Amino acid sequence: MTSAPTRPLRLAIIGAGPAGVYTADLLTKAERDFEVSIDLFDRYPAPYGLIRYGVAPDHPRIKGIVKALHKVMDRGDIRFLGGVDFGTDLTLEDLREHYDAIVFSTGAVRDADLSVPGVDLEGSFGGADFVSWYDGHPDVPRQWPLTAREVAVIGNGNVALDVARMLSKHADDLLVTEIPENVYEGLKASPVTDVHVFGRRGPAQVKFTPLELRELAHSKDVDIVLYPEDFEFDEASEQLAATNNQVKTMVGTLTNWLVEDQDSGASRRLHLHFLQQPVEILAGEGDEAGQVAGLRMERMELDGTGNVKGTGEYVDYPVQAVYRAIGYHGSPVPGLGYDELKGVIPNDAGRVLDASGTPIPGLYASGWIKRGPVGLIGHTKGDALETIGCMLEDQPDLWSAANPEEQAVIDLLESRGIEYTTWEGWLKLDEHELGLGAAATGSGTVQRERVKVVPREDMTRISRG
Ligand code: NAP
Repeated sequence: MTSAPTRPLRLAIIGAGPAGVYTADLLTKAERDFEVSIDLFDRYPAPYGLIRYGVAPDHPRIKGIVKALHKVMDRGDIRFLGGVDFGTDLTLEDLREHYDAIVFSTGAVRDADLSVPGVDLEGSFGGADFVSWYDGHPDVPRQWPLTAREVAVIGNGNVALDVARMLSKHADDLLVTEIPENVYEGLKASPVTDVHVFGRRGPAQVKFTPLELRELAHSKDVDIVLYPEDFEFDEASEQLAATNNQVKTMVGTLTNWLVEDQDSGASRRLHLHFLQQPVEILAGEGDEAGQVAGLRMERMELDGTGNVKGTGEYVDYPVQAVYRAIGYHGSPVPGLGYDELKGVIPNDAGRVLDASGTPIPGLYASGWIKRGPVGLIGHTKGDALETIGCMLEDQPDLWSAANPEEQAVIDLLESRGIEYTTWEGWLKLDEHELGLGAAATGSGTVQRERVKVVPREDMTRISRG
């Protein structure tokens, strides 16, 4: 039996999205016979990761999650250090010197690759990049080329629905959200009339969820268009619709939309297509040779198991922009191994593994960089719990930092001239954004709760001011 340690366990968590905050919160609440001292790092001055930079602004339910995360951080027992880029400002060696354990919760933020000809044409966009733009991510350009009248969105997950909804909704209906000014201006000028969403499998195999699907019908002056030939169900689909309530609900909603006349003469249409797989993004001719002018899809048919096979029949859709929303993918974390196929840090239940598959003492992962970009935000909690369980099991062997004082890492950041920010800094930025919302409300008829600050340097200045 090991005796209780004489100083708190120093833990660094890299990434202050839901995975990082849940991991910190669960450890502080876990039954243990030692103290903990946690630093939660993020490369941006704002916390919340994909909650701030990955969820569509018109999703009111995120407010509840933000409130819960805020409450955790506002308790004051977890130290937030924003504006610190792991791998650039601090290395793994630095962290090893200052912390006994490190949890990586860096998420998955880039678009999965789609390998079809034409994917690099002008007008072919990653869905995750577009999400970053409309969510005011500081690292994407302020301007987004919204010049297409007809747009394709590839994928049948919730991101595809978010992207399609944001592209088709009228900008004025988004003013009540926290969209930045540049996003409002960009969407306001968009000439879009038709947004086509393509699923490669059938209506019973969609990955999106019922609430998100129903939300599509709430956009004003946007008609939903469905096609009878896409409503094919094989044995596996019928079985799924009979046994899985979620699938049953979605097939029901889609089928109702198909049979009810959805044509209200709206100025914009959102088309939902199924059983079509992208084959090629087509280029224009002459002056438009480098630009998207269409999308070639192959019609698919169900093979009895819920999977699809090609029919050899192709359909070309005239579109001037293509958004690929076929899933997120992780990125390598400097100093650690990386599973390129899954886009995750190789790990066993959250214990980071070396090249030979052996756990590296003191290194852990949680969230999407641990398990891949699947599941709703709530699932991240269970995942964090598993990682914390491993850490608690390993704890007798952890205490290893040579320089564990809380001030030591601050001294290091300052000696390197890193403009780190704090929780108090985030509260200032938060207040500033709410103030911008109130000011905008004063001059118009729409109540704006918040207007996001986008440039990173402004975020840092306001936080440190
Ligand atoms: P996702 O749920 O994995 O959906 C990816 C979609 O892309 C699937 O329909 C998939 O089809 C399709 N796809 C993959 N490769 C393709 C290819 N080569 N050609 C054509 N289609 C392809 O991913 P996601 O939409 O990025 O969402 C990630 C996670 O975040 C999900 O758990 C999602 O629920 C969650 N999320 C939730 C919300 C929310 O509002 N609640 C919002 C955003 C994201 P197959 O099924 O045939 O593979």
